Amino acid sequence: MQKERNRTGKNMEEKKAGTNFAFPFPGRELAEKELSYDPCYARIPAQDRAEIVNRAWNKGKEAARAIFREENGCGDFFAICRKNGLAVKERAVDYVVGGQRYFSDYVSGRSTITLYTKSVQLWAAQNHLEQRDAENLILSHEYYHFLEVKRIGLTSRIYQVPMLTIGPLKIGRTGIRALSEIGAHAFARTYAQALQESTEQ
Ligand SMILES: [Zn+2]
Repeated sequence: MQKERNRTGKNMEEKKAGTNFAFPFPGRELAEKELSYDPCYARIPAQDRAEIVNRAWNKGKEAARAIFREENGCGDFFAICRKNGLAVKERAVDYVVGGQRYFSDYVSGRSTITLYTKSVQLWAAQNHLEQRDAENLILSHEYYHFLEVKRIGLTSRIYQVPMLTIGPLKIGRTGIRALSEIGAHAFARTYAQALQESTEQ
């Protein structure tokens, strides 16, 4: 199987929608936009876009509910990762490549996630989060990518487009990477909401 690298990062030139984010990952309302960043976007027929975004978001949401139950409402993704055979390696660097700051790195199929703690620190400060809470949120996002490989299947594969189109000729099939990101955002968001609801009760 093709190895996929999942890096969670942020384009530093991206303008923020608000000044005070309650939650630092894009929500459902930005999922269509996330899809539009995919290099294959132009090859997805316009009439299919809304449906595949929905399916990807729902896949992440359902996975979050299932894992929340399975982990008995545990909110500590350091513990969840460790328990499920996924090691977390922390590197004290601010990892910036090509105008993009990366917080974490997970190569699909491997058993280690790398957190770039100095990058996270900057992001945490911007979003008024404690360092450990920010790391935990990022881990929850990456944990979804781990689940995709280990248990639930790649969200990027729920829809495929031709790899190459030359006139009437269509060659190969490829999934849509942005759908995996949408799923991971839905997972992190839904899990955080479930935790919040459980502490409010
Ligand atoms: Zn991701």
